[in-house]
Amino acid sequence: MSPTEDPAFADLALREELLRPLTALGYEEPTPIQREAVPPLLAGRDVLGVAATGTGKTAAYALPLLQVLAPLPERPGTPTALVLTPTRELAVQVSEAVYKYGRELGARVLPVYGGTPIGQQLRSLERGVDVVVATPGRALDLLGRGALSFEALRTVVLDEADEMLDMGFSEDIEELLSAAPEDRQTVLFSATMPSRTAALARRHLRDPVRVRIERPAVAAGQVPKVRQIAYLVPRAHKTTALGRVLDVEAPTAALVFCRTREQVDTVTESLNGRGYRAEALHGGMGQDQRERVLGRLRAGTADLLVATDVAARGLDVEHLSHVVNFDVPSAPESYVHRIGRVGRAGREGVAITLADSREHRMLKTIERVTGQRIAVEALPTVADLHARRLELTRAALRESLLTDELDRFRSVVESLGDEFDLVQIALAAVKLAHEATGGRDGEDVDIPAERPGPDRDAGRGTRSERGPRGERARPAGGDGSPTTRLFIGAGRSAGIRPQDLVGAIAGESSLTGRDVGGIEITERFSLVEVPADKAEEVIRGLRGATLRGRRPTVRRDRDGAGARGSD
Ligand code: AMP
Repeated sequence: MSPTEDPAFADLALREELLRPLTALGYEEPTPIQREAVPPLLAGRDVLGVAATGTGKTAAYALPLLQVLAPLPERPGTPTALVLTPTRELAVQVSEAVYKYGRELGARVLPVYGGTPIGQQLRSLERGVDVVVATPGRALDLLGRGALSFEALRTVVLDEADEMLDMGFSEDIEELLSAAPEDRQTVLFSATMPSRTAALARRHLRDPVRVRIERPAVAAGQVPKVRQIAYLVPRAHKTTALGRVLDVEAPTAALVFCRTREQVDTVTESLNGRGYRAEALHGGMGQDQRERVLGRLRAGTADLLVATDVAARGLDVEHLSHVVNFDVPSAPESYVHRIGRVGRAGREGVAITLADSREHRMLKTIERVTGQRIAVEALPTVADLHARRLELTRAALRESLLTDELDRFRSVVESLGDEFDLVQIALAAVKLAHEATGGRDGEDVDIPAERPGPDRDAGRGTRSERGPRGERARPAGGDGSPTTRLFIGAGRSAGIRPQDLVGAIAGESSLTGRDVGGIEITERFSLVEVPADKAEEVIRGLRGATLRGRRPTVRRDRDGAGARGSD
C-alpha cells in the first residue's frame, strides 16, 4: 500500500515528543480510528466516534489532547483536559495510556474515581494536573468542593458514553458539561449509538466530525470461509492461553498476529520456551533479517510466525493452517485481511482470536460487518490438553503397532517380563513415549474464566459445542451432518501438507475442498474429517492415488473421535 492510503504516525502531524513514545511502545502505524479522528481533533473540531475498546480509541483522543500542552512552566495548574469514563478500571487504564503517550511532554495525568478516600486525590489536584480522567460522580464531587477547576479546560472527552448513560450518569454528565467552558472542544466515543447517546451528542457537540470504524467496507462475499473461534481470556493469561490453544490445535503452520513489536517479541520468546519453533517478524527489522526469517519458514525449520500487521503485509506464505489473533484487531477490515491468510486453495483454515472481556464488543462489531459468526468457545482446560496429548500418544503408538518392525525390542520386553507384569511394562513404555513427544503435563496451570464484557447478548456458543474429547463442531458454514475421520498413513515426515490432502480428496472424489473438515497432520500420519456418507467414496478414491509420490494406507480411523454417527 502506498503511504497516502496508509499514513504513518509521522503523517498525522504529531509532535516529535509524541511520536517517540509511540515507537517505543512498538506501535507501527495508526489504527483506522486514529487515522480518522486525530486530524479533525488536532484542528480543534468536535468528534463523535463510534468505536469499541480494541480500536485504539484512547490514543485517538489522547494524542491530540497532549499535542496542545504548553511547555511545563507555562502550564496552568488546573486541567486542560477532562476525560470521563464509566468505571474506575477504565479511568485507571486510560490515565496510564495518556501518561505513557505524554511521557516526554511531562504530562501530569490523574485518575479520580469514587469508592476511595478523596484526600489523596485532593492533594494531587492541588499540586497541578494537566489531564484528569474521572468517573462522573467523583468529578462532580470534586468540582463541588472547589478542588477541580474548569478554568483552563479546553477539551472534554466522554469515553464509552453509552456505558456511562446505562450506568445512570446522565445527570452528572449534564451538570459537568454545563459547568465546562462554552468554547471547549467536546469528544464523544461510544461503542454503540443508541438514541440516548445520540441525543447527548446532539446537545453537547458542535458540528462534530463523525468517525466510525464500522464502515461496511467488507462485502460478505469477500470474507474467506474460515472456521472462526474466539476464546475469552483475561489479559494477564493471554500468553499461556495461546500456548494452550496451539498445543490443542496442533497447527501445521500458523501466523500469530500481535499489535505491537513488544508483544511480538514476548510472544515469540514464550512460544519458543514452550518448544515451538517460532520466529518474530515486525516492522523494525531490516530486509535481510526479514528474508532470513521467511526463508526459515519456507524451509520448514520454523513452524510459527509471530508478526505485526505491518510486517505481515505482502507476506507470501501459502501453507498456513491457522491464523491466531493475540488481540482483537483494531478494525473489521484488518480482521478480514488477517484471516484471509488461511482458507486458501479452497481448503478450510482456522482463525482463532483471543479476546479479553473488554475486547468482546469489538468481536461483535466484526461479526456484524463481516456477516459471519465467530463462535465464542471455552478455552481448552488443562484436562482437555492432557487428554489431547494422550490421544496423540495413543494414536502414534497404535500406528507403530500396525506398521513398525518391532521385533528388535522384543528382548527388552522379555527380560523385563521376568520381573514385571506385561501391562506394567507397557505403561512405562507409554510414559516414556508420551514424555518424549512433549507431554509436559506438570507445567500446565489453570487459566481463570473470563466473563464477556458489558455486552448483553454475550456468552452464546459455549462448551456444549465441543464434544467430550475436545472434538469440534462442524466448521463454520458446515451443516452439522455427521463426519467420519479418515486415517492416512503419511504425515509430516513424508512432506504431507494440508493442501496435498485436500487436493487429493478433491481430485479423487466428488468432494470439493469445502467439504473437507478438520485436518491433522502428525509426524507419521494424517487424520482428515470428511462427510460420513462420502467416506467410502473418498477411501476408494485415495487408495488409487499417490500422495507426494507414495501410496499410503487409507482407512477409517478406528479411534472414532469426531466420527459421530458414522462407523
Ligand atoms: P484501546 O481501544 O484504546 O483500548 O486500545 C487497545 C489496545 O491497542 C491498547 O493496548 C493500546 O495500547 C493498543 N494500541 C493503540 N493504538 C495502537 C497502534 N497504533 N498500534 C498498536 N497498538 C495500538
